[in-house]
Amino acid sequence: MDNQKYKKIIDALNEFLPNDNILLDEPMRLHTTFRVGGPADIFVLPSSVDELKKIFEAARKFDVPVTVLGNGSNVLVSDRGIRGVVIEIGKNLSFIRRDGATLFIGAGTILGAASKFAMEHGLTGLEFAVGIPGSVGGAAYMNAGAYDGEMKNVIKSVKSLDINGNLREREAGELGLGYRQSIFQSNGEIIVEIVLSLMVGDKSLIKEKMDGFTKRRMEKQPIELPSAGSTFKRPKGYYAGTLIENAGLKGLSCGGAQVSPKHAGFIVNTGNATASDIIELVREVQRRVMEKHGVMLEPEVRIIGE
Ligand SMILES: Cc1cc2nc3c(=O)[nH]c(=O)nc-3n(C[C@H](O)[C@H](O)[C@H](O)COP(=O)(O)OP(=O)(O)OC[C@H]3O[C@@H](n4cnc5c(N)ncnc54)[C@H](O)[C@@H]3O)c2cc1C
Repeated sequence: MDNQKYKKIIDALNEFLPNDNILLDEPMRLHTTFRVGGPADIFVLPSSVDELKKIFEAARKFDVPVTVLGNGSNVLVSDRGIRGVVIEIGKNLSFIRRDGATLFIGAGTILGAASKFAMEHGLTGLEFAVGIPGSVGGAAYMNAGAYDGEMKNVIKSVKSLDINGNLREREAGELGLGYRQSIFQSNGEIIVEIVLSLMVGDKSLIKEKMDGFTKRRMEKQPIELPSAGSTFKRPKGYYAGTLIENAGLKGLSCGGAQVSPKHAGFIVNTGNATASDIIELVREVQRRVMEKHGVMLEPEVRIIGE
């Protein structure tokens, strides 16, 4: 980033963010579950909607690009990192409030924690989310789902901040929620709060269901290695993992990136992968699956950075 701009925006951010919440040249591998990715020029950890507004304002004023990150569990950051400002919507923007079967949740809250909170309060509907390692904001953005459940089924409304600093609240029907889709993927807004509508249920049955999902995940998925979950979206009429496995690609490697021998739908970092290794492997899998099955796999993982 241009040196002058860089200095000016840091000065502007210093006026309202504590020092500890502005990190310079922050390695993104420390903030992503793939454990790869070069530095973000300026990494900020806001604690309020007001701070978020001011960050947007400063970025607009100095014409600096902004990237939003939740828990970093569905992104692949390039080895050169991210230019401009990266905003982490994390634990500083995390809370859960309950009113009957309705939960008001800060976007930075970890989804698994929200799922556990619901269980503790005998609320059903969020069991599917127990093993998804994202933030609730990231889960709304992706319409995350598993085991026949998805965020779409439980979201009542979402509050977000647009690029001009206006806070908006939309009902579920206005969010364009579809398979791994939402309007936030195209409107550039930051999700700040999610309202979930759950149902009263039996705590022990809810727990049993969650334990069952956790067991299935541990048996089937390579959760012991860094990854970003399913690498590809499910193509209509197929399962990405099955297509990859049937093309004989289990165990295929590029540098430290590997198609998991345990679950072909996952690309894992075996220890020293670079983002380039992973991207190369993604392309190779796409090419070979196309050759074998005539199906073009589309990454579910969002590839970002320079
Ligand atoms: C082991 C493993 C298992 C997984 N299993 C599943 C699964 O079963 N089902 C599933 O759907 N996913 C799964 N995932 C993927 C991932 O956990 C989900 O997509 C999750 O919802 C991403 O949330 P996040 O906070 O980590 O988002 P990030 O990875 O940080 O970001 C993803 C995208 O969302 C945007 N974003 C994040 N937060 C906000 C916000 N507050 N406002 C606006 N934009 C935002 C980012 O800009 C980015 O484009 C898995 C991942 C791993 C590592």
